[in-house]
Amino acid sequence: MASKGQIGVTTENIFPVIKQFLYSDHEIFLRELVANAVDATQKMKALAASGDCKQELGDLKVTIDLDEKEKVLKITDEGIGMTEEEVDKFINQIAFSSAGEFLEKYKDQIGNIIGHFGLGFYSAFMVAKKVSIETLSWKEGAKAVKWTCDGSPEYEMSDCDKKERGTVVTLYLDDDSTEYASKGRIESLLQKYCKFMPVPIVFGKEQEWKDGKYVDTDKDKIINSIEPLWTKTPADLKDEDYLGFYRNLFPLNEEPLFYIHLNVDYPFNLTGILYFPKLKDRVAVERNKISLYCNQMFVTDHVDNIVPDFMTLLHGVIDSPDIPLNVSRSYLQSDAEVKKISTYITKKVADRLESIFKEERQQLEEKWDNLKLFIEYGMLSDEKFCERAMKFALLKNTDGKYFSFDEYKTAVESAQTDKDKKLVYLYATDVQEQYSYIEAAKNKGYDVLLMDCELDSHYVNLLEQKLGDTRFARVDSDAVENLIPKEDRIKPEMSEDDKKKLDSVFKAVLPEGNEYFVVGDNLGAEGDPILITRNEFMRRYREMSALGGGMNFYGTMPESFNITVNLENPLVARIWEASKSEEGPSAEDESLLHQIVDLALLSNGMLKGKALSEFITRSRKVVSDAYLK
Ligand code: ADP
Repeated sequence: MASKGQIGVTTENIFPVIKQFLYSDHEIFLRELVANAVDATQKMKALAASGDCKQELGDLKVTIDLDEKEKVLKITDEGIGMTEEEVDKFINQIAFSSAGEFLEKYKDQIGNIIGHFGLGFYSAFMVAKKVSIETLSWKEGAKAVKWTCDGSPEYEMSDCDKKERGTVVTLYLDDDSTEYASKGRIESLLQKYCKFMPVPIVFGKEQEWKDGKYVDTDKDKIINSIEPLWTKTPADLKDEDYLGFYRNLFPLNEEPLFYIHLNVDYPFNLTGILYFPKLKDRVAVERNKISLYCNQMFVTDHVDNIVPDFMTLLHGVIDSPDIPLNVSRSYLQSDAEVKKISTYITKKVADRLESIFKEERQQLEEKWDNLKLFIEYGMLSDEKFCERAMKFALLKNTDGKYFSFDEYKTAVESAQTDKDKKLVYLYATDVQEQYSYIEAAKNKGYDVLLMDCELDSHYVNLLEQKLGDTRFARVDSDAVENLIPKEDRIKPEMSEDDKKKLDSVFKAVLPEGNEYFVVGDNLGAEGDPILITRNEFMRRYREMSALGGGMNFYGTMPESFNITVNLENPLVARIWEASKSEEGPSAEDESLLHQIVDLALLSNGMLKGKALSEFITRSRKVVSDAYLK
């Protein structure tokens, strides 16, 4: 038997179309051919399991052979094979009557489409000038067939003497695709696309070290793991299994914090394992570490249209045959099935975190600092997740103690409710820098939270909306007496002239370039002479605009500070009296003024350069005057 014919596509010549449109994704040809070989093997196993086929199967495998010199690549399987009729039906009459039109429409997503429209096998022509199939069907009495095609729509079919059941696809690589005539390249493609396929895939032999060099042994080298962890039953697995799998996926990463095994078969099919990585900063670099598989065949590591944005910070694997791959990426987001999957994953992640909160509180606290960024990002970007997270998110105070939102409220309610019945949560962003303010607040019986994450200025805003009747104030946003106003404190009465005078006396000795609001207050004789604080809201808006919150108006304004002058402090009283007197301040008063202002600047890390060096000279004199008299 020998025959010739034309491949049944309506497009005049499909191969130029394939080459042209699939250009960017040539390498997936290997995945497609191996996937076909694996499918044929799985079908064979199914036939044997059902008893329809009585042959002894043994260990079925798929073998890849590469002749680097001849530039010939072979994919051999021991699957069901094809009869002559089947080759005619499945290969010759390609079932995509409007392939050309289709390719035109979806040329951007073509890499994903292939394989789902019967184009799978034909992707071989992206890299080969000639392709042959030799195949022997499992069916009794079947004859082996050879099919050859050189890239024109014409093919040849003839008998051949293939003895073993299964199929060999041979690719004679094209001159512009010689990159695939390299063992290294093929091995890395197999690692990328076929690492978890369900049938052993053999590429070359295991090697051993002998007489000073590596030599092939007789043992086949299997490149994949046929039962990856996500396909197993969670109840049979231990923590070590999950950690080992993570190490296998991400050999260079630190150990993950927690993991989730996803496993659902209704209303859609999805398995997978997601890991919470250790996150500190730099949200951007950690993305795209979730790989999407379809029945253990790698599809993509861009799942950004399938899971909510914050979930892309997780690492791991999702396997679902129900995620449509034959549609454009933007369509994916609006697809009802994908939405269900996305909602499911979000819910599972929240469930897991809630159960960790309830059952492994200690663990959660230990790992919180590395988990916080993920949770805060999730809460800020996903309404539903936020609702759930309000129950398990933690707050940490400056003593390193952790609280749930409810616990924290109970803990501080009595001391930190202001005169308008609003709860005031105090926080610091840097324990070292804000040390004296934190101490002052603690001495007053207040608790101070630590908010040192890069999203915290946004997060604080969100919590104010969610918690209701709660306001956040950074410890250095006002004098401690004013942070949580209890009753209307009596502030010193000053005439307008006095206010102006106070303003000019102090502004004169403050560094230029910032904006200052000077106010007189009574903070006791023992209280600091001068306090420099930053208005909570001005500061927060500035930080948010720096983070890209869009409030650029605030971002471009000069920094503004509140200067609280404690009129009850004897040093201030002396300066203030002298400034108001007929003869004005003496040289000594002037020096005192500089000294107390500089001390306040120094304690806020604002004394720099010339001003700092002048302060040191002045202080030295003060010290010698005091001790060497
Ligand atoms: P798809 O795999 O998406 O159906 P392909 O063009 O890759 O499209 O293959 C078309 C058909 O050819 C397959 O459905 C299968 O029936 C048959 N086929 C392809 N490769 C093999 C193989 N190695 N062994 C047996 N049958 C195969």
